[in-house]
Amino acid sequence: MADTKPRNLKIVMFPFMAQGHIIPFVAFALRLEKIMKNRANTVISMVNTPLNIPKIRSNLPSESSIRLIELPFNSSDHGFLHDGENFDSLPYSLVIKLLEASTSLREPFRDLMTEILKEEDDDDDEKSSVMVIGDFFLGWIGKVCKEIGVSSVIFSASGAFGLGCYRSVWLNLPHKETKQDQFLLHDFQEAGEIEKTQLNSFMLEADGNDDWSVFMKKNIPGWSDFNGILFNTVAEIDQIGLSYFRRITGVPVWSVGPVSLSPEKKAGSRLTDEAVKTWLDIKQDNSVVYVCFGSMNSISQTHMLELAMALESSEKNFIWVVRPPIGVELNSEFDVKEYLPEGFEERMTRLGRGLIVKRWAPQVDILSHKATCVFLSHCGWNSILESLSHGVPLLGWPMAAEQFFNSILLEKHIGVSVEVARGKRCDIKSDEIVSKIRLVMEESEVGSEIRKKAKEVKELMRRSIMDGVDGSSVIGLEEFLGQAMIKKEKN
Ligand code: UDP
Repeated sequence: MADTKPRNLKIVMFPFMAQGHIIPFVAFALRLEKIMKNRANTVISMVNTPLNIPKIRSNLPSESSIRLIELPFNSSDHGFLHDGENFDSLPYSLVIKLLEASTSLREPFRDLMTEILKEEDDDDDEKSSVMVIGDFFLGWIGKVCKEIGVSSVIFSASGAFGLGCYRSVWLNLPHKETKQDQFLLHDFQEAGEIEKTQLNSFMLEADGNDDWSVFMKKNIPGWSDFNGILFNTVAEIDQIGLSYFRRITGVPVWSVGPVSLSPEKKAGSRLTDEAVKTWLDIKQDNSVVYVCFGSMNSISQTHMLELAMALESSEKNFIWVVRPPIGVELNSEFDVKEYLPEGFEERMTRLGRGLIVKRWAPQVDILSHKATCVFLSHCGWNSILESLSHGVPLLGWPMAAEQFFNSILLEKHIGVSVEVARGKRCDIKSDEIVSKIRLVMEESEVGSEIRKKAKEVKELMRRSIMDGVDGSSVIGLEEFLGQAMIKKEKN
């Protein structure tokens, strides 16, 4: 190995086939493209299945020279209809089938990488450094890269604390060994106590031989084959998780966040954006609750009614992104009136109290507006980063995946959130929601502390990506690039 600076760098990025993974990967690819512009001759490629390549393309600005490479993937071979190439279009129960099917991409990926390396060998000039950046759901990438002699790292679109808990639960299934409702994670005790109600439904049902356990027990150990892990997170708020991964994997772990797409690159209509902005512009500073459960989740009809009653009786302004309730096809046409209390939308509109946005709102615009005070969120990691980078505290209502653990991080370790409810089937009444909204928005010791902390975190996050002050994420990225630029000597 020689560590002289190469003239060329090839980066091959491979996200899992879900918007929540693709979008942060694209955002990170664009950041790398920008940074490398004046440093080295860099070619960045993104690899994915045919259905997902157009989705990646639609998020790239026209001036980007990121290359897109399709790998063959036939949904019907895996028992899916056409849509079975994408996590977001599948019912939750079939997600595991997509995870299993994604392992069929291993050999086409190996062939692709072999081809890329061959181009290198055929080139008489100096060799490039080649670096693969893979997804944690595609854990086999690390082994393939090891076998063909290419460096690889994971880029995690989840925070380190949440992913750490997720890893620990799947590898140890602690809830099977304890009758207690609360327990410490086997190899991640510093995460604090976990409650059984904070395990997602697949974890709760796992017996070690079910499809999820079998997949995870194969996938997660593969993370040690990578040469490092990049997290879309900020060291100042996620140190417990970052230290855990350093200890458990023994490889370099870098925090490089927050990485996100600029708002104009997100789906949604300009008309909605304008209407939302006009509505917010005439509201008092810090007077609005923003309610949204991410890009995929919805709540039950019962919960929708309780939430509507709570928002009405809280006497606070609100913007609520409404989707059809659980059990109704997410993409179907719907009339919000069908699922909300009678006359609710008209009353809230007439009083100027509430704005109901169907399906998709310009989230980053809302969170960056001075009228927004608090975000009632499902605790998806992108939503958390977007909220905290604008100093907006949260009201947590985790629903699935590692969101329960993210909620613990926010409430117990950082102090910027209060959990309102937990899970899709919990028994929550409107008056409990009202009291939590008031707690965070009104003058109380707890509320003032949480709002103050959120402002401090905003400042920490701003500094983490500042060049001049050696922000922690700038350092993380530079250390990673230092590793990426180490090239193998020509044989
Ligand atoms: N989002 C948005 N408008 C919406 C719903 C979601 O812009 O109405 C965006 C949000 O800004 C975030 C992403 O979708 O970037 C959701 O990601 P997150 O990790 O929070 O949750 P997921 O959808 O993956 O569960």
